Amino acid sequence: MAKASVAVEEEPTEEVKEKGSRKDASEREDAKTGFTVPRDMVLLPSMGKLYGKNHPLHKQEFVEVRHLTAADEDILTSRSLLRSGKALDHLLQNCIVDKSVSIDDLVSGDKNSIMTFLRISGYGSDYEVKMECPSCEDEVQYTFDLSRLSVRTLDLIPEDIEKPLFTIKLPSGNEISFKFLTSAEENEISEILEVTKRKTNSPLERNITTRYSKQIQSVNGDSSQETINSFVKSMSVADSRAFRKFMSDNEPDVIMKQPYTCPMCDHKEEVDIPIGVGFFWPE
Ligand SMILES: [Zn+2]
Repeated sequence: MAKASVAVEEEPTEEVKEKGSRKDASEREDAKTGFTVPRDMVLLPSMGKLYGKNHPLHKQEFVEVRHLTAADEDILTSRSLLRSGKALDHLLQNCIVDKSVSIDDLVSGDKNSIMTFLRISGYGSDYEVKMECPSCEDEVQYTFDLSRLSVRTLDLIPEDIEKPLFTIKLPSGNEISFKFLTSAEENEISEILEVTKRKTNSPLERNITTRYSKQIQSVNGDSSQETINSFVKSMSVADSRAFRKFMSDNEPDVIMKQPYTCPMCDHKEEVDIPIGVGFFWPE
């Protein structure tokens, strides 16, 4: 009883305090320099539909982001720093105006949207990369136009926003529920793959199965990790393809694909845009 009344009394005060400090944080940043860094509202492919009630981006379609500054370039000009995903995350985190938003909690499509915005506003939309032509296999220099990327926004609505899971029936008849991965979960997967690769020294990358084991939350209503792991291990190619198709049709994200015409062999194809160091470090 006593506890409850204390909580009720404290709640509004804390909320006001929190909201105040959120606003102040970005203003303080400007005050420090005496200049205002331009800001923009960046589209969240998730439309905020994957964030629970207590998340600052709950049902928000946009997030306020400030442009890159020369100070950010200190991070960007260090190639080795940029190679580690952590430096990039740190940079993105700095640019989100609302300091109560953690980059780790964002679904990866929302993070990609912020990343693409910062790239375009800072360095323009021409993205020149060295890549291997999928047809003649020659190494070519190719320029993609990042301003023409399309965004797939989330059309699905999770049944329970506090636990945003989606359910599909696979060709085998098994029903799985799964989630869209956050930036932190993506980082975890990269680390697991990195460690496995070093330990086993095997060229075999367990990319797909590692990802599925994290994404799938239950199989036919059974949510034990053991069941999920053994299901993933024995998952048929047909099931795997159906799941991937569902993901590529529905996962909220910036679609990093663009038409490509080979300057060497004239081959035309829609390709995945290779994201390398040059994305934030144009030559
Ligand atoms: Zn070619």
